[in-house]
Formats: sequence, structure tokens, C-alpha cells
Amino acid sequence: MMKQIIKNTLIFTASFFLIASLFTFYEDTASKPTKVGMETLIKQIDNEEIKEIIVRGSLVELELNSGEKEIIKKEIGESFSSLLDNYGVDKTKVSKIAIQVKDEEGFAFWFTALAPFLIPFLIIGFFLYMMLRGVQGANSRAMGFGQAQVKEFNKDAKNKIKFKDIAGVREAKEELAEVVDFLKNPDKFTNLGALIPKGVLLLGSPGTGKTLLARAVAGEANVAFFHISGSEFVEMFVGVGASRVRSLFKTAKKSTPCIIFIDEIDAVGRKRGSGMGGSHDEREQTLNQILVEMDGFDPRMNIIVMAATNRPDVLDPALLRPGRFDRQIVLDLPDIQAREAILKIHARRKPLARDVTLRRVAERTPGFSGADLANILNEAAILTARRDKKLITMNELFESIERVMMGPERRSRVITEREKQITAYHEAGHAIIAHYLPHTDPVQKITIIARGRAGGYTLKIPLEDKHMYTKQEFIEEIAVLLGGFLTEKEIYGEVTTGATSDLRRATQIARKLITDYGMCDTFGPRTFGDKEDSMYLGREIHEQRDYSEKVAEQIDKEINNFIMEASVIARKVIKKEKAKLKEVVDILLEKETIEKAQFENIVGKKAKLINNNNISHKQ
Ligand code: ADP
Ligand code: MG
Ligand code: ZN
Repeated sequence: MMKQIIKNTLIFTASFFLIASLFTFYEDTASKPTKVGMETLIKQIDNEEIKEIIVRGSLVELELNSGEKEIIKKEIGESFSSLLDNYGVDKTKVSKIAIQVKDEEGFAFWFTALAPFLIPFLIIGFFLYMMLRGVQGANSRAMGFGQAQVKEFNKDAKNKIKFKDIAGVREAKEELAEVVDFLKNPDKFTNLGALIPKGVLLLGSPGTGKTLLARAVAGEANVAFFHISGSEFVEMFVGVGASRVRSLFKTAKKSTPCIIFIDEIDAVGRKRGSGMGGSHDEREQTLNQILVEMDGFDPRMNIIVMAATNRPDVLDPALLRPGRFDRQIVLDLPDIQAREAILKIHARRKPLARDVTLRRVAERTPGFSGADLANILNEAAILTARRDKKLITMNELFESIERVMMGPERRSRVITEREKQITAYHEAGHAIIAHYLPHTDPVQKITIIARGRAGGYTLKIPLEDKHMYTKQEFIEEIAVLLGGFLTEKEIYGEVTTGATSDLRRATQIARKLITDYGMCDTFGPRTFGDKEDSMYLGREIHEQRDYSEKVAEQIDKEINNFIMEASVIARKVIKKEKAKLKEVVDILLEKETIEKAQFENIVGKKAKLINNNNISHKQ
């Protein structure tokens, strides 16, 4: 406030003087009176050359009969008439002249009168101000440092997100509907002596709609929503995070009922004392502060703390204790129904051509998250605009599925004729094996156009969403992965570098068969490696070996066995179906891309086989 006033005053005075000086400058140049001395004036009065005299303070302006203008300075205190008296000017001659005495006024006057005193003060004041401002700025920055930069949403009714804007995640919505109820009618619960939950933790892979859901709860309950990201607590300086937590809760308590949403809470909520990622002192303090605040507020305050993470495995157990985040809601990746519904939501404001069936897009996108699906529609709209079309067609939608999966096409990549041939054989190999083995997913598309980091690719899509896989399915999957490599070897007698990622993936699957799924007969039904792994999200952080060196050797050997078993299967198919392989390659070389229908023209429909022995949970 004070600062503002000082600033405004300064600006005002500065402009005042600027204008004043301009004014004098203007006046000076316009009339251009010549400066004369007292003697000249007296002489001119004697000669009766003067028509008019204007006295303006210390300035005396003379207008001669000839029209010329002159100017004389006199002392400020002395009056003009007594001055003339002193010089003994003839009074009769003076009385013929029109003499006007005007008030001293005008910017020019004030400027000339005051400037000599004021300017030094102003300069000093200005420097003082600048210095003060510097200090104050640093100060207030230091003070604001410990404040949480909370964002409050739900002020405007228009942007409110409701449950209906979120598709799928039915169970999560049901659970959260209860939370909404708590916020709306707390009495209903407290009258029965029920404790309202303080914390709700949303768990789910990235893009499954955790943030969206938290906002929807606030939208449904029509309460304030404070959004902060866990990473905003983490700064270089110890103690800042804790102070931000305090300020966050303080702000929130002022506008109850409300929801505090801590996004990506794993940034601060890691297990304490694990020392992972450095600066864990700070994290510990921040986490402690969150716990203290959550314990500290009265459940009747009607604040619900929501948090989201995709790393529940690393969370500190103290966070999950009753009275803290004791409600945990898992958001799964959407199944086909949910995918279609999500696509519908995001297609609402997009003009779709009549041929578009979102169900078919949903079929092609198993494993995609809500965010991926939203992205597909957006990419399709961009592609349509780029092609100067008015409606989004199936073409653009399919194209964007592949863009989202593998990155943009790289048609311009120059490859030699030989490279093209090798790629064609490699991809055709994948496709043929995928087609002729009974447990694999059907081929949707084969292409030798580079996309993202892949030189070409074969797209297989499962007929339905699968959650469990058998050993046979895994082995055939490995066979398909090895198919490219083995075909190159079969045809050219040597292999290229293009198969690296296939081989890595195949090895990973083989290892998991043994270490995670207990599918190897040499070992008993057990797992190997104590993983800090999340049941929900299937991502390994790091593994601690809980087996001996000898077993490690055995595992390696068994991995080899699985890979060999798969390559035998793959090689058999390649040898047997070489004619079909050649046909597919020829078309690939000519057209670069083969869609499902054309592929089936060559090889026939895929035999469907349902088999459900040897079931394992897929992670
Ligand atoms: P998360 O926080 O889980 O990483 P977000 O909530 O930020 O994911 O979701 C990202 C975007 O994905 C949302 O803004 C929304 O457009 C879309 N999205 C994700 N899940 C859904 C869903 N179930 N229904 C509709 N849109 C969704
Ligand atoms: Mg999020
Ligand atoms: Zn390959």
C-alpha cells in the first residue's frame, strides 16, 4: 500500500516537472523576446518607444510600438514603479504607457522558483526509494517463499467438472459420491457418531483421470477446491515445504467446507528414511507437517484432503494409517466400454464424419489411458485441419492412434532399397507368425513406413481386454517377437540391428515367466526378487535379490530355454509358410502398408482358439 502511494507521488511530481520544463521551453521559443538591461528600458521610455509593460513577478515584459518584444529581470522584492522612481524616469512619459501588473503564475514560475531547492531532494529521495524497494522486494520474496501457491478452483460455475464428465471408473465414482455426501450434509453422519474420513487417496497410472476426479468431487459438492502439486513443496531449502503445508491448511481452513488436493503426493510422501533421491530431510519434514496438519484438524471442520499418486508403492505407511488417507481408491485403465464412453465425452465438441464409429476406435486401443484417448481425438482434429477437411473421419482417428502409440510417421526417412526389403521381411515375419500361432492376437496392420523410433511395425490387437495370460500365450508372444529377427536370418543368413527392442522385450517376458509367474517347472511355485513393485501399476523400481548366485545362474539358463523353445516354434512357422511370407513381402514393397482385410486375403482368417489352462495374473 505505502509503496504504491510513494510510487504514484513520485511519478506525479516527475511528470509535473517534465511538463513544466517543456512549457517554458515552448514559451521561450514562441515569442523570442530579447533580453535587455534597465538602461535600455529607460532610454526607450524617454524615446516613447514603448507601448505596453507587463510586470510578472521578477519578469518585466515590454512591447514596443514596433511590435518587438523585450524582457527585463528585476529583483523579486522590489516593485516596478519604485524601481522607475529610483531611476528618475519622467512620470508623464510613464503614464502614457499601459502598465499591467500580473500575478506571478504558471508552471514556468513555479519551476524556476522551486527547482533549485527541490531537485536535489528528489534525486536523493529517488535513490532512497530504489534502495528500499530492493530490500523490500527481497524481503517479501523471502516471506512469500514459505507460502503455498495454492490454486483455488470452483469459483466460477462454468468450468465446474461434474461426475458426468468422467467416463468409466464406476466404482471410484460410487466411493466418491459418498465423500460428496459428507461434504454436503455432514450432520447426517456426525449425528450418528460417524467420523467423516479426512483423507482420500487416488491411485492409478498416469492419465487415468485422478486429477479430473478430484476436481469433480469439488464440483459435485460445490465446495472450494485447493489444488497443489507435491513437487511444489520440495525446494532447495529445508523447512520451506513444511511452512508451505502450514500455509496451505491455514488458507483452506478459512473457506470450509473445502477439498485440499495434493497431486502427485509421492513427491513428498515417500517412505521416510529410505534416503532415495537426496534431500530427504526436507521431504521428511514436509511429510511430517502434512501428518501433523491432518491429525490436527477437527473432523467436523469439513475439510477433506484428497491426494493422488501413481506410485503407491513408495508411499510412507504413516500416510495410509486410519485417520489419514485411509480411503484408497484405485483407478484402472479403462476397458473397452469405458474407452468408448471416454471417446464419446471428448468427441462432444468435434465434428465427426458419418462413417465414424467410436466403438472401433475403442477396439483398437486396449491399454490406453483416458488421457491417451483424449489425445487421440485431439490429434485427429489437428490432422483433419491440416488436411483442410471439415469432418473428422475414421482415417484420421486410426492414424492418430498410431501417432499416439509410436510417434509420427517418418515418410521422409531415406532408406535404401535393401533396407526396405529387410524391413519388409522382418515385419512380414512378425505378422505371419502372429497369424499362424493359435494363441496370439490377430494382425491389424503391417507397415514398413517408419514411425517414431521404429523402422516399421506390425500392429496386433487383442479381440478383447485381457487380464490374464497363460504360459502358452507368453511363449507364442515371444515367438512373434523373435519372428522378425528369425525371418531376417532365414532369408539373408544374417541379422541387422533392427531387432534390438524385439529381443529385449522377448527376454523380459521370458524372465518374468520365471521370476514372477512361477511358470517354470524347474523351480517350485515361487517368485524371485523382492521388488518394490506396485500391485496396481506394474512398474518395477528396483529389485532386491532374495536368491543365491546359483539360482541366478539357473534363472539365466531357464530364460535361454524359453527363448529357444519360442524360436523353434517361430522357425517352424517361417519355414512352412515361406510362400505366404513372400506374398506379404511383395505387397509391402509395393504398397508399404497392408491392412487387416488385405492380409486376410493372402493368409485367410485367423483360427480362433480359446484356452484357459495355466492361468496367471498379468501384471
Ligand atoms: P491423472 O491425474 O490421473 O494423471 P488426469 O486427471 O490429469 O490424469 O487426466 C488427464 C486427462 O485425460 C483429463 O483432463 C481428461 O481429458 C482425460 N481423461 C482421463 N480419464 C478420463 C475419464 N475417465 N473420462 C474422461 N476423460 C478422462
Ligand atoms: Mg494428475
Ligand atoms: Zn520387429
